Amino acid sequence: SEQQNICMGCGVRVQTENPNELGYAPASALEKEMIICQRCFRLKHYNEVQDVNLTDDDFLKILNGIGQKEALIVLIVDIFDFNGSWLPGLHRFVGNNKILLVGNKVDLLPKSVKHNKLIHWMKQESRELGLKPEEVFLVSASKGLFIKETAAAIDEMRAGKDVYVVGCTNVGKSTFINRIIKEVTGEEDVITTSHFPGTTLDIIKIPLEDGKSLIDSPGIINHHQMAHYVDKNDLKIITPKKEIKPKVFQLNEGQTLFFGGLARFDYVSGGRRSFVCYLSNELPIHRTKTENATELYMKHAGEMLTPPRLEQMETFPELVKQEFMIKEAKTDIVFSGLGWITVNDPGAKVIAYVPKGVQTLIRKSLI
Ligand code: GDP
Repeated sequence: SEQQNICMGCGVRVQTENPNELGYAPASALEKEMIICQRCFRLKHYNEVQDVNLTDDDFLKILNGIGQKEALIVLIVDIFDFNGSWLPGLHRFVGNNKILLVGNKVDLLPKSVKHNKLIHWMKQESRELGLKPEEVFLVSASKGLFIKETAAAIDEMRAGKDVYVVGCTNVGKSTFINRIIKEVTGEEDVITTSHFPGTTLDIIKIPLEDGKSLIDSPGIINHHQMAHYVDKNDLKIITPKKEIKPKVFQLNEGQTLFFGGLARFDYVSGGRRSFVCYLSNELPIHRTKTENATELYMKHAGEMLTPPRLEQMETFPELVKQEFMIKEAKTDIVFSGLGWITVNDPGAKVIAYVPKGVQTLIRKSLI
């Protein structure tokens, strides 16, 4: 009975345990004569792509494979988690290929944000991270904003070549691709899958008019993302759904903010000043004196300071700290995957705490 069940669509070994892993199919699918994994099922019947998880090793093979092709590379990032959703190492594989950078989830940013300024910021940040995108577009895949413009730019920039779409999980790559499919193919049942060379993973090919393809590579897991440390329900709380309403705090030295129980911000020195928090509107913020903060966390994490939940606390990573000296005007202190705090004037000393494994950093202000 140890017979292997192989998906008719993509050839992957079918498993019924983990819906988020490659090759998943519900147990009932195994009773059918022709077994097909859920990913291929959705693709075949709904023209919908679905992401699968990926090992770092497979990820490297994919990047390597893409680097050896002559193609346009479309990199998607989540504008709310720019650094956390970046694909580190991509620049080493792109060769001479052109890059088009897409910042998704633009619907989350306050309406006052100037798109041109943000695009300029993204270009600068990308260069510092080693990548030189030819063009940058802001879109909202879920709201369908600026998709037509981006699709047109992709078509022009590819100059008759294939297009590879890459991005880490949760940036909205599937949502984006599904929008693009409707834009370029008019929803016909024309999508095919094939193997990515050297991996067990399938890629999805969407045909373009001139016989070339738009290729969806599997989403890559970025281990620094906060999303990996919270449970599914809490992910809903920390992931903004609507336009973010910045919250301003006037803090004195020696005051602390808790973002649920997921992160902590100590204001050490620099005189009374304001801090602007860009976080999910649903994430509760708690202010206290720094001298009481550690005890408060020990007593109330998972309860008053939530998410995470009480039953999670045993496995929840400890908060680790990093100190920052703010030396330039308009600096963001980034809590990867959670949001950021903008400091307008230099001269502040702060400490940022996040669960061990998650990243904190400072950057030139995004807004
Ligand atoms: P993937 O893992 O990169 O394929 O991401 P998905 O397409 O599955 O989307 C991940 C999450 O982001 C889902 O909860 C989507 O609803 C959400 N999402 C996708 N596009 C947008 C967008 O343009 N705006 C907002 N606010 N959320 C989005």
